[in-house]
Amino acid sequence: MKRNPNLSQLKSNYLFPEVNSRKQEFLAKNPKAALISLGVGDTTQPIPGAIVQALMKASYNLGTLKGYSGYGPEQGMQMLRKKISEKIFFNRIEPDEVFISDGANCDLGRLQMLFGSDISIAVQDPAYPVYFEGSVIQGVKEIVPMPCNPENHFFPDLGCLKRTDLIYFCSPNNPTGAVATKDQLKHLIDFAIQNRSIIIFDAAYSSYIQDPLLPKSIYEIENAEKVAIEINSFSKFAGFTGVRLGWTVIPKALKYEDGTSVNTDWNRLITTIFNGASNIAQSGGYAVLEEENMLEIRKIINFYLENAAILKNALQSIGKEVFGGVNAPYLWVRFKGQESWDTFQYFLEEKHIVTIPGSGFGSQGNEFIRLTAFGNREEIHEAISRIFQKS
Ligand code: PLP
Repeated sequence: MKRNPNLSQLKSNYLFPEVNSRKQEFLAKNPKAALISLGVGDTTQPIPGAIVQALMKASYNLGTLKGYSGYGPEQGMQMLRKKISEKIFFNRIEPDEVFISDGANCDLGRLQMLFGSDISIAVQDPAYPVYFEGSVIQGVKEIVPMPCNPENHFFPDLGCLKRTDLIYFCSPNNPTGAVATKDQLKHLIDFAIQNRSIIIFDAAYSSYIQDPLLPKSIYEIENAEKVAIEINSFSKFAGFTGVRLGWTVIPKALKYEDGTSVNTDWNRLITTIFNGASNIAQSGGYAVLEEENMLEIRKIINFYLENAAILKNALQSIGKEVFGGVNAPYLWVRFKGQESWDTFQYFLEEKHIVTIPGSGFGSQGNEFIRLTAFGNREEIHEAISRIFQKS
């Protein structure tokens, strides 16, 4: 059996395992070091009780003859699709345009399978690694980077951008924390319409947007349904990183160049290779969207956003250039003239803080590190006091 040559195109280690192996190496030499992780963007706060009750009830029901259910619809429970259509999209999107998944990452992989390899794609640089790496695994023909940096306000210069079949765009952005405005998204949509491209809009952090003028969904912008797919997740929204639940919107108005429906093809693909998200997780997701539970969820989101503000203020007070951290749980910190793995190593060895080196997200990240606000409050304060200490 020959190795899939696409896999040999990948760097030997995915970013997060590489960060972890450096951390383990450091701990092996310094077993007493109390590391603080401001690195991998995993949530830390417990899921609100009423949502846990819903998860427990769904599990309990599986142990009763009356409550037992096996496979569900591959597209997801109808009541959850309907609830997402109402609560997230205010009925702008129909329930049969919402497909429930076991997380945004898994659907990104399936979308890459949907479009195949004989395509060109554009990806923000820096970007969440899966857009690029998943496309390499798929054997995509051409990958065009879209540089996003402080100089262009983290929005690509579309005037210089080559046409591609697909455009990946993430807002609020991981890793930069930048949030696209309505005008910027309108430009992106116009660009996609002109070029007959499809946008894959990753809205995994949309629940962190507090500013009412900023768009939480690309479908808030006119004509988006003709050119955009939107993926989202309960992971960072409701602490479901381990529970696993997300959704993808494929509007019925989205068509291939021959006029056939992308929604129909997606339905065909997931009914073939995906047997639906866990029924327990979906019951939990439904509970998340109940009004009284959303109040609890918003408190947790506010807590993380306060973490971000505390970290940002502290770093700015010592003259650091910090981006993001408002309407987003990530801070993007510039260390001019320094290579990001060196900055990572400095934080690890001198401050005992784990960060993510910006170059892991693309060449534009070379002078940056990413910090997350998903920690506990004490850890955020402790991290700040370590950063303030002279080493
Ligand atoms: N998209 C972005 C931008 C992310 O940062 C993440 C997770 O960190 C995901 C997607 C994956 O989310 P999920 O846990 O739903 O697979």
